[in-house]
Amino acid sequence: MKSCLLCFAFTLAALVVSTTHAQESAAKPDQVILKYLGAAGWEITDGTTTILIDPYLSRINGPAPPGGGSGHSIAGDTRRAYKWTDIATPDIAAIDAHIQRADFVLVTHTHYDHILDVPHIALKTHAAVIGTESTENVMRAYGVPEDQLITVRGGEDYQFRGFSLRVIPSIHSPLDHKHYFSSATAPPGMKAPLTLQQIHPEGGTLAYLIRFPEHQILAFGGMNYIEREIAGLEPDVVLVGAGASRKEIYDYSGRLMRDLHYPALVLPTHWDNFLLSYEASQQPALEALQSFLQEIAVASPKTKVIVPKYFQPIPLAK
Ligand SMILES: [Zn+2]
Ligand SMILES: [Zn+2]
Repeated sequence: MKSCLLCFAFTLAALVVSTTHAQESAAKPDQVILKYLGAAGWEITDGTTTILIDPYLSRINGPAPPGGGSGHSIAGDTRRAYKWTDIATPDIAAIDAHIQRADFVLVTHTHYDHILDVPHIALKTHAAVIGTESTENVMRAYGVPEDQLITVRGGEDYQFRGFSLRVIPSIHSPLDHKHYFSSATAPPGMKAPLTLQQIHPEGGTLAYLIRFPEHQILAFGGMNYIEREIAGLEPDVVLVGAGASRKEIYDYSGRLMRDLHYPALVLPTHWDNFLLSYEASQQPALEALQSFLQEIAVASPKTKVIVPKYFQPIPLAK
């Protein structure tokens, strides 16, 4: 009798262990998982559909926008320094190491830290590219087929299989003390290869509200928003631009948190120094991010903030 009881206890323990293990190692069906790709880049998947936002894996030693950083002056960085007149060349190995599939690529605006890798990703994965006319003209220059291109203007609210997508009119970060930088539109009729300058006309800026059955994710690609366009949205997850230029905006975090009714989770985005490789230290950017964390804590004390690590899955609670 005693040995039988022991036997039962052992079986029970084994069951508990194996269940816990299964929960840890496998995502639950339909679980939404986010991964930070650096700069304003994210991968979002529900296990069926993979959506990329501003995926930028190349992290070239590129020119910094005015007021946007120190450019090539990072000590010890031996990578080739890009000029605006150089041919825009994505790092195919870096992209292929991290991007295996995509069904949709959402582009917030046509600056090189948002668009450089998108033609290769679109051609490789056959994903639909959703973005402005400017974005789609860059795709056309690289021969991305027309049936993959969904041009949006802001205001669209589209139903797709498994999720819906509201396109939110937005505005660019107030770089260089409130001076817009390269805000023209990429024209039609361009042919690759293009220079960095040619893939860098902003072309207007959008944000995206992605609605899954159990989660609504609002994604910004920079440090600004149009208040009337976001007031009343109730996302539970917000990718908030957390770079230094947000300080040019009146009550940036306070208005955002109130307008969005105090979302459960904030993930800071576009806070790292994208001129550096993935391996380089982001310590100065992480230190600068502390003031953003404090802003959110004051504006919305119940909101959880996770500082994302590159490529580390962030599963949303079911
Ligand atoms: Zn930009
Ligand atoms: Zn950017």
